[in-house]
Amino acid sequence: MYIACPRCDWRPAPSHVWRCSCGHTWHTFDTHGVCPACGRAWTVTQCSPIIGCGAWSDHEEWYHDDEGLTVEAVLANPQRIQVDSPVSG
Ligand SMILES: [Zn+2]
Ligand SMILES: [Zn+2]
Repeated sequence: MYIACPRCDWRPAPSHVWRCSCGHTWHTFDTHGVCPACGRAWTVTQCSPIIGCGAWSDHEEWYHDDEGLTVEAVLANPQRIQVDSPVSG
């Protein structure tokens, strides 16, 4: 599982923080969108307006299952890699 903006795939660093309407700042994915200071549950989460797209998306949509092949999985199964024969001439 990884966390990324569903619109632009920006992946927040652990040091990135969000600001609640109460003024508290914290990493919202540590608490599944719940402000630890006032208890407000944020059902939508804003992407970084500086690094990402700045759009608000449903908090649940930020959680992604790992799908497809990782580089490690491909390297563990070299037969998956199909290299075209070099064209001579
Ligand atoms: Zn709060
Ligand atoms: Zn985004």
